Amino acid sequence: MAMTPSAVLGNVKTFTPIALSDDDKPALLGGPKAHPDRFPQWPVYDSTEEQALIDVLRSNRWGRLDGKTTAGFEEEYAKIMGMKHSLAVSSGTTALTTMLGVLDVGPGDEVIIPAYTFVATYNVVVLNYALPVMVDTDIESFLIDPQKMEKAITKQTKALMPVHMGGLPADLDRIMAVAQKNNLPVIEDACQAPGSEWKGKKVGSYGIGAAFSFQSSKNLNCAEGGAITTNNEDFIKACYRFHNQGQGGRATSFDVGEGTRGTNGRITEFQANILLSQIVRQQVQDKKRSQNAAYLSKLFDEIPGITPAKLYDGVTYVSHHLYMFRFDKSQFAGISRSRFMEALRAEGVNCSSGYGHLNKDPYVLGLANNKHYLKIYGEKVMKQWIERNHCPQNDKLAGEEALWFTQPMLLGTTRDMEQIAAAIRKIQQYANELKN
Ligand SMILES: *Cc1c(COP(=O)(O)O)cnc(C)c1O
Repeated sequence: MAMTPSAVLGNVKTFTPIALSDDDKPALLGGPKAHPDRFPQWPVYDSTEEQALIDVLRSNRWGRLDGKTTAGFEEEYAKIMGMKHSLAVSSGTTALTTMLGVLDVGPGDEVIIPAYTFVATYNVVVLNYALPVMVDTDIESFLIDPQKMEKAITKQTKALMPVHMGGLPADLDRIMAVAQKNNLPVIEDACQAPGSEWKGKKVGSYGIGAAFSFQSSKNLNCAEGGAITTNNEDFIKACYRFHNQGQGGRATSFDVGEGTRGTNGRITEFQANILLSQIVRQQVQDKKRSQNAAYLSKLFDEIPGITPAKLYDGVTYVSHHLYMFRFDKSQFAGISRSRFMEALRAEGVNCSSGYGHLNKDPYVLGLANNKHYLKIYGEKVMKQWIERNHCPQNDKLAGEEALWFTQPMLLGTTRDMEQIAAAIRKIQQYANELKN
């Protein structure tokens, strides 16, 4: 069902920031903590999950090839996502690897990814000896810049892999237009965005397929797990086959390499039953996160130098995995981001500077010297590759401005959100004294 922008923001009626007394100094300068209590702990479970594990245990059917729980979850997940098909797999990484396998991405191919993402988005491309081409970030949204994405396309490009970072939908209208114009498949890395919507439709329903992660930190959690969703029956059959050692299912239009490649990417019945229990919980939790995030953004409106990540016009619902915002030190007497984080931590509010410079990480740069890459692409192409991955906006975002709150914090109370804002206001007020 389509949701109006006001539904995205929730009911933000109770704007009552807590008053700070004049002598409330930042905790780092000896004042009281703005947030003395703990944020909600993660994961969340009760007897429902306990029973789910016991049920599978006693059924003696522990694997997906033995029981029916996984298939049950897949049906439920597809329904909730508003898509025809879903395949549960062993991780979000496996979901991406499986789809790249089905698209037969291999040596000599290029796959376009954002520079601002979890390293898994990069790893799955490299696992296939394809070239991951990193595209700069729209600094306001923390998401891939579609204009720069189009410029990164070459004859070798085999797929586009945008990421819905933190649960925020990438600009799907413009990305899909670029894809269509260049006749390229889109794989949505929706690992952080189960439930988010673009123009009333779930993210993950725009590309040929989408990847979701159920790893411990993610909003829907079974320790390790993932899913692929698609509306394309041939595609899901090919995915099933690939994740099941190349076995099972009939020949489809995605038959490239059929019978020649596959892996074991299966999930277990234990995980599937935990997921079935958590899926109900997740939807309630998501509403809460969404309301708290909207409230926090409203509180941040009053704080110069703190800017929440921009939502594109097409966004109709955000299932927050992260609360991402930018820090402008010029509004904080020039204190560094790390000093700001330190001061915030002292107030009882943990925050992270988020992902580093993926395109400059030694782990990534090492690819230019990898013997297989040198053999496949040659020294010149690999040198150019480092140049191509130049991302000035992302450098600024990741290097100086980005800050995150993690999703369990958004499960807190309205008062928790007010205390976060109060902590930041205190730090701002005393920024000069925090310099030393
Ligand atoms: C978590 C995540 C993945 C990988 O998922 P796993 O389940 O940990 O393998 C991939 N991409 C993004 C953006 C992620 O956040």
